[in-house]
Amino acid sequence: MKLFSRNIAIAILVLLLIATLYPVVTGQLQPKETFALSDVVSEIRTGNVTSIMISGDDLAIRLKDGSERASKKESEAGLTETLKNYGVTDAMLESIAITVEGPSGFLFWAGAVLPFLLPFVLVIFFFWLISRQVKQANVQAFTFGKSRARVISPDSKKNRITFGDVAGADEAKQELSEIVDFLKSPKKFHAIGARIPKGVLLMGAPGTGKTLLARAVAGEAGVPFFHMSASEFVEMFVGVGASRVRDLFKMAKRSAPAIIFIDEIDAIGRHRGAGLGGGHDEREQTLNQILVELDGFEPHESVIVMAATNRPDVLDPALLRPGRFDRRVVIDLPDLKAREAILAIHGRGKPMSEKADLHEIAQRTPGFSGADLQNLMNEGAILAARENRKLIEQNDLLVSIEKVMLGPERKSHILSPEEKKISAYHEAGHALVAATLPEADPVHKVSIVSRGRAAGYTLKLPVEDRHLYSKKHFLAELAVALGGYASEEVVFNELTTGASNDLKTATAIARDLVTRYGMSEKIGPVSLDEPHEMVFLGRELGMERTYSEKMAEAVDSEVARFMKNAYQTALDILKEKREALEAIAKHLIEKETIEREEFAKLMGSFGIQATRGASAA
Ligand code: ADP
Ligand code: MG
Ligand code: ZN
Repeated sequence: MKLFSRNIAIAILVLLLIATLYPVVTGQLQPKETFALSDVVSEIRTGNVTSIMISGDDLAIRLKDGSERASKKESEAGLTETLKNYGVTDAMLESIAITVEGPSGFLFWAGAVLPFLLPFVLVIFFFWLISRQVKQANVQAFTFGKSRARVISPDSKKNRITFGDVAGADEAKQELSEIVDFLKSPKKFHAIGARIPKGVLLMGAPGTGKTLLARAVAGEAGVPFFHMSASEFVEMFVGVGASRVRDLFKMAKRSAPAIIFIDEIDAIGRHRGAGLGGGHDEREQTLNQILVELDGFEPHESVIVMAATNRPDVLDPALLRPGRFDRRVVIDLPDLKAREAILAIHGRGKPMSEKADLHEIAQRTPGFSGADLQNLMNEGAILAARENRKLIEQNDLLVSIEKVMLGPERKSHILSPEEKKISAYHEAGHALVAATLPEADPVHKVSIVSRGRAAGYTLKLPVEDRHLYSKKHFLAELAVALGGYASEEVVFNELTTGASNDLKTATAIARDLVTRYGMSEKIGPVSLDEPHEMVFLGRELGMERTYSEKMAEAVDSEVARFMKNAYQTALDILKEKREALEAIAKHLIEKETIEREEFAKLMGSFGIQATRGASAA
């Protein structure tokens, strides 16, 4: 309807334009000096007029001295008749050359025809506009079964992405270069009877560059890339998903060799039979159609289907069967070297100061995904631009790390002196426990400046690239998580709501210890599959606990025991090192933040070694 009102506005504008132009066009150029008819008569009487030209009702009068005058006669009446009525005699008229000129061609026509034609033209124009809209709507109604795939053709230089644009992910690139080879020269593989995988599933955390890699494969191979998000298959209308799948595959086969990329395939690829509305929901039909298309490939058809997901655990096993998505490429979060390379890629075109050190930034960002790092570089550039600087400084990037990690600082969120004190002791509690326990992640920064939703924070970063965690580590983390809570108890003998999030984190760690890692002696080495998140219409909704009531009770008591022990550990540390706790809190109240080096120095003065592992770099 927006379009409709816009059209009306256009029509009105056109009308106004015509209304203002019309008099200008038809009225012609207003000639020289105008005369009343009586003046004309008196001029004729004195014999001053040599000629009169009549054009319509307009009179152009030429005088003896050569000048011209304009006048009008009455319409309906002839000029001579009028003049006679004014008492001009024939004799007087004899000496005057009277010529009658039909109104000039175009203007006459315009003047005569336009007033009649214009309404018709407008009405027709209006109908045309409306019919065009209806047509568009029709086209939409008829094409909704068509795939909405976006195609990136290999010729488009601007959109071409190659492996060079993807940093790190070396194993993934190696795996995928096989696919590239095949797409480049399929005959070589067919000749030797090799069966090339039809489907490749890219798995990895959000923002690790799955979409980017898929595009890079197409770019490397120089083949068309059909890109569609799984959720786009399914819309309001039943049956659309399946027909879109058919259409997408038809299009890709026509331009083979080609790549079909289905992003976020978990949106349709979840376990079938998990929907609430009976087994035959739309999602399921779409998934079935994808399976049918995958199976229906002829061996000579060089179309490869790539799909990406960050939830491989929920995928339907049928998708993962040999001959379907049997190639699985896992993309990990980038390690130190990869992070530095990703930062460098996104630093292209961003002028940086010589002192900017991407290696240091990479060191401080374990756990960041490629997308996070891209975001970080961008935030750094924004910061520099806002201060009208031409170069990005190292400090811009350092500040951006925390912004990306925790959200923007909320300086306006002013704490009352009492709140500030509680916050300071709370964060000091976390920090002191973390500094004391050698297995905990080292402290990078402690702050009571509110950020995002947190009132204050203790920033700890894992030691670089750890893939295996020991029980000791979890126990230490548990104690650190409860450090804030314990500190409030020790110092104020009172608890606040500020620790509720900590309790949640701690409980989750304790539960994982017991049910997933088999780290409780009492429960022993079992994995008790807990439904971790409820997914609407997903498999988990209908999932039942697979262990007995008795086991559940035992788990709960073990979780409680771990929590209690950790709490006791934290309490003991804080009581024993009360002076150190006071020192950190005092510093926080005064300065609001402590950076890593300063914190290490402060702890050192109490004989606590706070820096270890990679953070000592
Ligand atoms: P995913 O599909 O895995 O969620 P994307 O491929 O959409 O992630 O990545 C988001 C953005 O992050 C990309 O556009 C890219 O700019 C950046 N990015 C992620 N990983 C990398 C990488 N390895 N190298 C360079 N840029 C990356
Ligand atoms: Mg993606
Ligand atoms: Zn806390």
